[in-house]
Amino acid sequence: MRITYNQDLTHLNTFAVKASCDKFIQIEDEDEIRPLLETDELNSAHYILGGGSNVLFTQHFHGAIVQLCTKGIHKFNEDTDFIWLDVAAGEHWDDFVNYCVKNKYYGVENLSGIPGFVGSCPVQNIGAYSAEVKDVIDSVFGYRISSKQPFTLANADCQFGYRSSIFKTTWKGDVLITRVRFKLSKKEKLTVTYKGLIEEMESSGLPLSLENVAKAVVAVRNNKLPDIREIGCAGSFFKNPIVKEEVRNKLLSEFPNLVSYPAGDGMCKLAAGQLIELSGMKGVRESSIGVYPKQALVIVNYGGATGEEIQRFYRKVQEAVERTTGIRLEPEVNIL
Ligand SMILES: Cc1cc2nc3c(=O)[nH]c(=O)nc-3n(C[C@H](O)[C@H](O)[C@H](O)COP(=O)(O)OP(=O)(O)OC[C@H]3O[C@@H](n4cnc5c(N)ncnc54)[C@H](O)[C@@H]3O)c2cc1C
Repeated sequence: MRITYNQDLTHLNTFAVKASCDKFIQIEDEDEIRPLLETDELNSAHYILGGGSNVLFTQHFHGAIVQLCTKGIHKFNEDTDFIWLDVAAGEHWDDFVNYCVKNKYYGVENLSGIPGFVGSCPVQNIGAYSAEVKDVIDSVFGYRISSKQPFTLANADCQFGYRSSIFKTTWKGDVLITRVRFKLSKKEKLTVTYKGLIEEMESSGLPLSLENVAKAVVAVRNNKLPDIREIGCAGSFFKNPIVKEEVRNKLLSEFPNLVSYPAGDGMCKLAAGQLIELSGMKGVRESSIGVYPKQALVIVNYGGATGEEIQRFYRKVQEAVERTTGIRLEPEVNIL
């Protein structure tokens, strides 16, 4: 375990905002968790950090930030159709995706190129291009911080929903996820239903295969999203709102091109990016902060912005969307 005080977090968040915390605890071995829980380190303010790609620090964090850096991908089981892999929380998500593509395990290829750690993937049930990680998670392992006890949650008990899970709701702030068990298909099973992905596959002229779908996903992402090595951001800043069909119908009469997807139970999902565009905020830039011109759902730090400034800016976006459409967008990003 490595503990540092007054740790600078600027390079530990993809928004690249200047931030710091009282204490930074890095765990390199799962065996260090029990002794850590026995101390009172996590009894007061604490935050679990992965790769920092879904967080906006708006101030110094008064408390302890814990990062699990544990590594390892191990086969748990295998039959003729599936393989079960246990992956340590500190593995980089995209390294794991590449490992699966290389070994011809199907199920995570549409999630290629998402930054962050494996330990974070169940928290908001990461998703992209018609895939969600919940569809390949078998179970999640870790510790509850309050009870200091280990837990194992089967997929059905993780309460996965759109960009949500038990780890982001009822158990928020009270878990250290140590390991995720994935169930991946050994038989070809590809999902190419997203319009942009179909177009990319067609224009590349490459045959449909696991490797080529992963490549196409990365190409689509590179066209639409900023390169975080150059421009700070945390991916989609807002969740796509889920509203009643009657709300959608009312909006449709005003905005005939409104995009929506069925979300069950008389509800439908709207595209937050389109709502931002309709409010006139797409591409708007104020000093070093802006709505990314190629993807309105992404708020960017062109360099030097503070977390507080980004917070003021995202609230302006929220207000503009609410004024135009009556819908209040909710941040997907964790605001600290
Ligand atoms: C350019 C860009 C593109 C993105 N594209 C997508 C996308 O397509 N789809 C998508 O869903 N997301 C996307 N994201 C958001 C982000 O990458 C994901 O949410 C990712 O899973 C976050 O991982 P992280 O390790 O960086 O998490 P962090 O930001 O460090 O943490 C995220 C959450 O997980 C919790 N957490 C982290 N590790 C643990 C642990 N071991 N135990 C318990 N809790 C933990 C944190 O407390 C926090 O609540 C994108 C972000 C960027 C910057």
